[in-house]
This record gives sequence, C-alpha cells and structure tokens, in this order.
Amino acid sequence: MYPLAHRTLIECCRNADRVTSKYAPSRPNPNQADPPVSHRFAPDGPSIMQINIGDHRSPVAGYLPVPPHLRSRLYWARTRARLIASKIPDADKYFLHLPKRRSLTELLADRSIWINYSVLLGGDYGEATGYDQIAIGSSAFRVGRWTVLATVIHELAHCDGASGRNTNIEAELAVLACGLGKRSEQVLSDDPCTPYDPRTRG
Ligand SMILES: [Zn+2]
Repeated sequence: MYPLAHRTLIECCRNADRVTSKYAPSRPNPNQADPPVSHRFAPDGPSIMQINIGDHRSPVAGYLPVPPHLRSRLYWARTRARLIASKIPDADKYFLHLPKRRSLTELLADRSIWINYSVLLGGDYGEATGYDQIAIGSSAFRVGRWTVLATVIHELAHCDGASGRNTNIEAELAVLACGLGKRSEQVLSDDPCTPYDPRTRG
C-alpha cells in the first residue's frame, strides 16, 4: 500500500526559525478564538483529503493522530484551501506545473492523502513523506491557523512532486500562488503580516 520508496522520500519543511510570528493581516491575532462551529467539524466527504483523528495508522514513524484540541484549525485550513482552489485560478495553475501535474483541487479531493501530527519536527512547521503523508508540527499550531494553512499548501506542493532540496523554492511558491503572500516580498523583503516567506527553501 505504501511502497518503501514513498516512505523514505521525505520532503521538508517550513521552519519556525525562518518564519516567526506570522499571520495574515485580516486575522491580526494568531491566538484568537477558533472559527465558528459551523466551520469546525464538517464530516469528511466522499472526496476530500483526510485528517487523521485516530482513524489512520501512518506508515511513517512519528506521524500521529491530530490531538483533539488542534483539529478545528486543520478543519478550518482544509476548508480555506478548498475555497482558495475554487476562487483563485493561479492556485490550480501553479500546482499543474509541478512534477506530478496534479491540481490543488485534485489533491484536496484525494482521500489517500492524510494530514497527521508530529512532535518530531523540532522547529519545522511541517513535513511530507512520499506523496500521501503530511505531518504538521506543534510549532505551526503555535503561530496560528494561517500558518497551518500555509504549511498544508506547502506540503501539498511536495505531494505534487515539488523538490525538498534546500535550495529549492517550488513548494513555498505554491503558498504565494494561493494568495497567501505578496509578489513584492520576492524583491523587497518578507512581510511578517503574510504567511508566505520568500526566504523559505526546500
Ligand atoms: Zn518544504
């Protein structure tokens, strides 16, 4: 089910050392209350990327169910990512040029992709292993849900074949293509009010 090659291919990672205290301008307080209940516990539909709530045993060591108190942020991020895919044409367009040629819409509808939780990521926000196992770290949750969203987008780009080499910016550019940053950040400097970070590599 999970070929060894998938298990050993690890793509990393958004990093808290490079991206600190970030949040989107429309949500100035990363510690604010989670979204309304109506956004929280939407049941997984027949075609939707899955969040591990204890119903999945990841083949990757250290990838665990998302703790109950953090799940609402991931449900919110997944809902927001689907909104991005439907409203921002550049999002699908960008993903379609990545090596596996899968659109963001397609990835978000893929039930074989699982989002897990990991305490082994150190300062990294997230990690993708193979093309179907994502882990989000506690540091991303600490910063806030916009960073969780950006990390999910970044790791989905790895699921689409974006390189994790430490000189490569393919995965983080997906965050920009999804409207979570400003192009001016590429030539000026990082704007701490957006989740995108032009300094992120791999
Ligand atoms: Zn990465």
